[in-house]
Amino acid sequence: MNHTSNQLYKCLVYDGQISLSVLDTKPLVQRALDIHRPDDKTGKIFGCLLTACAYMAGCLKSPKGAVSLTVKAGEGGCTVSVSGDSRGHIRGCIDGGDNGLKGGTLTVIKDDGFSRPFVGTCLMESDDVSQNLEEYFRQSEQIATRVRVSADVENGVCKTAGGIVMQQLPGTSEENAEKCEERMRAFENFSYPLSRLGAEGILREYFAEEYQKGGVYLTFPEYKCNCSRKKIEGVILSLGKDELYKILEEEGKISVHCHYCNTDYTFDKADVDGLLKNA
Ligand SMILES: [Zn+2]
Repeated sequence: MNHTSNQLYKCLVYDGQISLSVLDTKPLVQRALDIHRPDDKTGKIFGCLLTACAYMAGCLKSPKGAVSLTVKAGEGGCTVSVSGDSRGHIRGCIDGGDNGLKGGTLTVIKDDGFSRPFVGTCLMESDDVSQNLEEYFRQSEQIATRVRVSADVENGVCKTAGGIVMQQLPGTSEENAEKCEERMRAFENFSYPLSRLGAEGILREYFAEEYQKGGVYLTFPEYKCNCSRKKIEGVILSLGKDELYKILEEEGKISVHCHYCNTDYTFDKADVDGLLKNA
């Protein structure tokens, strides 16, 4: 069992009518916990959403595609935002602590290279991230999708994290839809089979026939922020020359903090002079 990298396995099962994804995202979630240090309950929600995002990023068709998921819990709860791109680079940030999700909203923005990004929002009827995601797929994308994502977090350490998603393709027979339901029952508590078998082991054990036929695609999502000094330069230049010199005069430097990866970018007067000269 390889636990050094994140894994996303994808294949078609049940007469090619169901798209199956199995994920192990333990290193990705651990990296996110190390950066953001949430309490364990919020860390679990964060881990589940990062895993869901890794799945959805893996479904993007355009190389320029991007997806983001945001949960805003009810009063006193957390706001968790995660985003990913078609290279499988996933990042996220958290605000506030856990007070349950029920009554809050889940918003998904998906840009798959079409003219306009798709935006879907649904009310969260449950504290369980998996159930809210299923509801999102049903309401907003009108696709029957079974989702089990899990993240076991104890004292800031991720013990296991991953998920399984089975999505019906158009024209799925009732028989295969039922097979899918039946199979999903084995994954009510996904942490258990995942820690015992690993992502590949789950394919071998529960989808042996399909696994042996081949056609299984493996990708490696990771926690990676897409910020860079170059991008931040563009942002600060947009403030305009007067504003930049005003901040320099007041603060002595310009600091920009990236909340996704905890990186500080600092620009002194010489940096700003140089940027304006080359702009
Ligand atoms: Zn960053």
